[in-house]
Amino acid sequence: MIKRVRVIIKGIVQGVGFRPFIYRLANECSLTGSINNDLQGVEIEVQGLYDNIEAFLMQVKAQAPPVSRIKSMETRSMDTVPDEKSFSIKTSIITGNQAPEICPDISICEKCIDEMTDINNRRHEYPFINCTDCGPRYSIINSLPYDRPNTSMAFFEMCSKCKAEYNSHDNRRFHAQPVSCYDCGPVLYSPTDRKQKDIISYAISLLKSGKIIAVKGIGGFHLACDACSDEPVKRLRESKARGEKPFAVMVPDIKYAEKFAYLDKGSKEILLSNASPAVILQKKPDSPLSEYISPNINTYGILLPYTPLHYLLFHYNGPDKPHFKALVMTSANISSKPLIKDEKEFKKLNDSNIYDIISHNREIVNRIDDSVVGRCRNGLIFYRRSRGYAPFSMKLPSSNRQTLCLGAEMKNTIALTADDTCHISPYIGDLKDVDTFLYMLETMKKLKGIYRIRPERISCDKHPLYENTKWARKEAYDRIEIQHHHAHIASVAGEKQYFSDTIGVAFDGSGYGDDGNIWGGEFFLGNPLRYIRAGHLNYTKLQGGRTVPKQPFRTAISYLYQVYGKDFSDIDIPVLKTIDHETIRLITDGLAKDINTFQSSSLGRLFDTVSAISGLRLINSYEGQAAIELEASLSSTYAAYSEKGIYPYDINLVNDVYIIDTKPVIKAVIYDTESKAKISTISLKFHNTIADIILSVCRLLREKTGIRTVMLSGGVFQNRYLRELSDKLLSNSSFDPYFNNMVSPGDEGISYGQAVISSLL
Ligand code: ZN
Ligand code: ZN
Ligand code: FE
Repeated sequence: MIKRVRVIIKGIVQGVGFRPFIYRLANECSLTGSINNDLQGVEIEVQGLYDNIEAFLMQVKAQAPPVSRIKSMETRSMDTVPDEKSFSIKTSIITGNQAPEICPDISICEKCIDEMTDINNRRHEYPFINCTDCGPRYSIINSLPYDRPNTSMAFFEMCSKCKAEYNSHDNRRFHAQPVSCYDCGPVLYSPTDRKQKDIISYAISLLKSGKIIAVKGIGGFHLACDACSDEPVKRLRESKARGEKPFAVMVPDIKYAEKFAYLDKGSKEILLSNASPAVILQKKPDSPLSEYISPNINTYGILLPYTPLHYLLFHYNGPDKPHFKALVMTSANISSKPLIKDEKEFKKLNDSNIYDIISHNREIVNRIDDSVVGRCRNGLIFYRRSRGYAPFSMKLPSSNRQTLCLGAEMKNTIALTADDTCHISPYIGDLKDVDTFLYMLETMKKLKGIYRIRPERISCDKHPLYENTKWARKEAYDRIEIQHHHAHIASVAGEKQYFSDTIGVAFDGSGYGDDGNIWGGEFFLGNPLRYIRAGHLNYTKLQGGRTVPKQPFRTAISYLYQVYGKDFSDIDIPVLKTIDHETIRLITDGLAKDINTFQSSSLGRLFDTVSAISGLRLINSYEGQAAIELEASLSSTYAAYSEKGIYPYDINLVNDVYIIDTKPVIKAVIYDTESKAKISTISLKFHNTIADIILSVCRLLREKTGIRTVMLSGGVFQNRYLRELSDKLLSNSSFDPYFNNMVSPGDEGISYGQAVISSLL
């Protein structure tokens, strides 16, 4: 008997070769009907024998294209259509209000690399080769549905050969929107030297001679130079005014990654995945990379070539050995400003160190930074979820009014909700910068348009000085203000879809507390709807306002003042010798007279203090440097938790809240520093102490409530050692610990946490 079924599929099903896949499958199963992209996803109708329809439905899920992601699939019986002869692909029509998910940009695929390196192929060494499995997506999209006229490829008219591939159902470029070739596609050029015929050779020769060049990529420009040569890397540091912040390094292939860093199976898979992020990997000794790539830390951020142009910079003219062992590929921007996406913006940079620009005429519609991920024993850690992974959609506990979630200020992302789905933007940046703030507004407008969301409410952080909160308070929307650390914990609850009461451990640099103090070492009891602050690190008065996170020595002196009063000049630690007396006096006077001071329970600041007291880092040249270097000083010791011991601390119950007194920790760190203990030992003991504090307080809270599920979030949980150790200790003591694996545990994850909470309000 002939039947007809309508199938609605939602998820990432546009721009990923889904329609040709369905077309082939329907023909294989001898079915007639049609497929159509609409704003919901794809809509398929198939008609044929019952068994054939069953076989078709089974294989849709089993054989879906590699980049697609099916979130839901609904089927419904229909009346049969008489005399239907074939299966057809309909042109997209726009119906419905809510948009499907956008496919992130995809790194070049193996098949395209094969064609590009085949001298007889018409796209031999063509720097814009792509197919339905690979190429730019989000970065070129103006609006949905994802069809060529809605992308920056609209500008290029397909030649007859490309058109034939695009229209041929059995071609691997069937409906690949960015398809192009030498005859019809974008071209490379150098804006300063337009006479250059062979741009790629030119770029390679510049890099070989130690020059820094800008290279247009997928979501913005990179600054590139030879990563094995000190001199250009040093110059690049000056150019970007980024102090000692590590540079990402691109290597020709996975074998080279393995030469420079330790790679486990999981890290390899991420490196080779089609998101192609930079992966944080432990350095190997004797690596030929310049020591200026990531000074004072034991890791590299390594990524593989993800555009055809990147690939050609290493392998042009098919050399046996790649032209470079490694290239620095760092985002081109002035620090804390948005990524540069066109040549006009370069003019503002006005940097004589950048020798030339390698550009092309395919417009970047949406900027997007490289993603940065790390791996630890309990899964993926996102340091930055962006190109290849974003924008992305997450589930919410409840359907509610459409809401715009503004995230945190420093590592901002925004989120838009519709029904029970939350769409999260790529990484935006630090909103204290005016241009970044404008970029946030631009992203908001763009995503509202793409997803067709008209928010009726705003949710934002409680911090009265956050630029986005100030903006939200001026807007006429309904507004929900959410405590920063509550949002951190809710982001884990959302990821794990677990909304009952839990213990929450929120450790980070800083967030605005309900009492107006700066929090960051918090224990909560509750769920996304309500929470109580059940414990926290003791308050310490810090002096210096916004300079505090940049100057760990300042925090250290505030801590010394808390422990010893004004009387600590006889202590024999490096910070007191390096920082001049006058500065120290100004800080202690400020503390005594409450000038520019605030109370902090932040663990991030305690990390800064230990880093400064032990003499490791007194002034940060980039955000979080003191804490990152303290983790790095553990090097490969990763010794057992009990081996090197822990520092003493006290827990006091005050008004039913557990207050962790860290003064004994400070005294013990001073003692170890005076006794010339190795920094790695101090660091290990300190990390072990924090994990022990987590375990002890969780035990006390479990005794009180019986709750044994623990959610841990906040920037501190980007620290791999601490994350793995607290996971192990809690698991061994019969707790169920959960960490972020899908959104960043840092402030990039706040917008999603806000969305989770708002959906319940
Ligand atoms: Zn491809
Ligand atoms: Zn063409
Ligand atoms: Fe935070």
